[in-house]
Amino acid sequence: MSTPDVPFSFEITHTKGRARAGVMQTPHGPVETPIFMPVGTLASVKSLDQQDILSTQAEIILANTYHLYLRPGTETLQQFGGVHEFMGWNRPILTDSGGFQVLSLGTQAASKLARVGEEGVTFRSHIDGSKHHFSPTTSIEIQQAIGADIIMAFDEAMSDGLAYKKARASIDRTTRWAAESVDAWEARNRLSAYGKYQALFGIIQGGMDESLRTASAAAIAALPFDGIALGGETIGYNQAGTPQVLDWLQPALQAEERPVYAMGLGRDPIDLLTVVTRGVDMFDCVGPTRLARNGSLYSGELQEKKGGKEDVAFISEFPQGRIRIGSATFTHDKRVLDENCDCHTCSHGYSRAYLHHLYKTRELSYYRLASIHNVRFMVRLSKQLREWICR
Ligand SMILES: [Zn+2]
Repeated sequence: MSTPDVPFSFEITHTKGRARAGVMQTPHGPVETPIFMPVGTLASVKSLDQQDILSTQAEIILANTYHLYLRPGTETLQQFGGVHEFMGWNRPILTDSGGFQVLSLGTQAASKLARVGEEGVTFRSHIDGSKHHFSPTTSIEIQQAIGADIIMAFDEAMSDGLAYKKARASIDRTTRWAAESVDAWEARNRLSAYGKYQALFGIIQGGMDESLRTASAAAIAALPFDGIALGGETIGYNQAGTPQVLDWLQPALQAEERPVYAMGLGRDPIDLLTVVTRGVDMFDCVGPTRLARNGSLYSGELQEKKGGKEDVAFISEFPQGRIRIGSATFTHDKRVLDENCDCHTCSHGYSRAYLHHLYKTRELSYYRLASIHNVRFMVRLSKQLREWICR
């Protein structure tokens, strides 16, 4: 299947306070923002097939460069003409640079697998221990071979507790790597290995340090990226830190006409409100599918706060907006997970009692039904936020 070769564009159509609604055009179709992007690490959103993903109305999905590079490898992807054809998904895809994975898998392992140098990261495969090296240039080249619509600059994901001197050096490295990523992107006229335009996003690092975050934001914004992302350990994992960083960067982000992307954010419904009301357009997280597999299913709804149209809240009778489906409370519960949910699982009428039973017996269909619900829940919540902004 071929699609017309349109370059990337982004237009903000509505704003409300700091929140913004827009439309992004990619070679594989439009994406309306704000948008939640489900994660398909290995070119597969775990336990879902592409038809299931379409049923959640997800408009764009993520795949991970590190994982695809190791398996199935770029040679296989190139034989298929890229990841879209390989996995049978004809809508937009975003790939990360692999920077986060090589570092996080490296530092998690007992025998330090990854080593950061000025030129890039040398790491060992978590599968067979084989040695590899990613530089900004090789990361972009791999992403060109994967062929996603949006690709990411190679960066050093910063942890929060880094001493200032090391943090400063890391930011400088990320800035240099961002420029080198741009060069590698321009060297191929911003096209994938298959001749389609690829949008390149830069990544702001800086941990929980205001001066480093602002310095990084200025350096990244100065480069000709198509979009601006916020990365590092803070974003999505530090519930107080994420809004703090967005508030520090408010002037820069508010002036930004490019899409703003919070990387790895979207584990809980409330997270979406936190960042959308602070001007973030895109976000992704493995949380919804991982939580689903572990028995946590979202329930609750968006409400405009009383007395002011400028603010919204997420209301749920369950702590963190999560039903713990393994609880004996649901053994005889005939209700669907969420009466307002229009996902395949809820609209088919599968009861909490049935899902509780599938979960307790580890039936394979549980993983699919639960993941469909959680992904649709986050996609629908981002659409509801969009409607609130556009009203
Ligand atoms: Zn549902």
